[in-house]
Amino acid sequence: MPSNNSKRALIVGVTGQDGAYLARLLLEKGYVVFGTSRDADLANLAGLRTLGIAEQVRLSSMSPTDFRSVFSVITSTKPAEIYNLAGQSSVGLSFALPAETMESIVTGTLNLLEAVRLVDPSIRFYNAGSSECFGDTNGEAATEDTAFRPRSPYGVAKAAAFWQVANYREAYRLFCSSGILFNHESPIRPTRFVTRKIVSSVARIARGSEEKLSLGNLEISRDWGAAQEYVDAMWRMLQSEDAGDYVIATGQSATLQTFVETAFAAAELDWRHHVVVDEALLRPTDILVSKGDAAKAAEQLGWHAQTKLPELIQQLVAAEMQRAS
Ligand code: NDP
Repeated sequence: MPSNNSKRALIVGVTGQDGAYLARLLLEKGYVVFGTSRDADLANLAGLRTLGIAEQVRLSSMSPTDFRSVFSVITSTKPAEIYNLAGQSSVGLSFALPAETMESIVTGTLNLLEAVRLVDPSIRFYNAGSSECFGDTNGEAATEDTAFRPRSPYGVAKAAAFWQVANYREAYRLFCSSGILFNHESPIRPTRFVTRKIVSSVARIARGSEEKLSLGNLEISRDWGAAQEYVDAMWRMLQSEDAGDYVIATGQSATLQTFVETAFAAAELDWRHHVVVDEALLRPTDILVSKGDAAKAAEQLGWHAQTKLPELIQQLVAAEMQRAS
């Protein structure tokens, strides 16, 4: 139970994968947790319910692109920490919804920063940056000093929001930090993301489905970690003495084909009998290899990725099989 002097945190986008895991972490630490959804009455609370915390998060309606709602929620909840996790978060969808992606991420972040400045500049602010800002780094592990060359509307929007945060830190001395997070997964990721799409299909095929799993480019490589660990890095950033930007990654990259092979093998299936490549799923531009170097987070935050890919895939497949049965 939170005590009278519990810290108050506001998670913007609490209904998403990271919002749910972060809410659980903060509740375990004794925080009073406020969360937002664009429509609190219609919000999808499945992730929060799966983690058993839906009743403990105090939910409000807030649209990050609507300054009035941002100002009003921050004024009424009086948080010591704000975590900005909201916005259109799918790289693939950003090619179909470029303006919505840009507005929800760039205007949304700007409104939050302005509201913090006006309501209470002592609020500590975390911003969900993304490895998609880097684009292709030719197989090199990206650090905080690697140049941004985004290759999707989503990456462009995240890069703009990153520089807004950096500017508010310098110009107004706000305590605001961006986590440049590489891909992180969990059993509560929506199925439109490729990892959950794969493990959901594996679980159905293992139970007798004759479906084919359609995928795009199997040669892309990603640095995949576990969402539960990545939200801990967010919290650590706001407990640090100084604000700053941090790459959060495992440091290892594997191809999508390796992910698929390992996921099917975990259910004792041969992926080659069940997967088809669909050209329609190829993106106009994509990142071939994505890999991060989280040495700064290790040194300054004491954060390390514990779960590496084979174990992560085992966990995802096991959770999906359990859900299916
Ligand atoms: P999710 O998509 O699961 O959650 C994002 C939340 O934002 C949703 O629950 C939704 O809440 C809200 N949202 C969705 N679309 C919009 C929109 N157009 N305008 C305003 N709000 C919207 O994301 P994750 O939890 O996976 O990620 C959290 C943050 O971290 C995101 O900003 C994402 O881009 C970023 N990130 C994620 C990575 C990952 O691997 N998961 C990697 C790097 C960065 P509601 O519908 O209730 O309003």
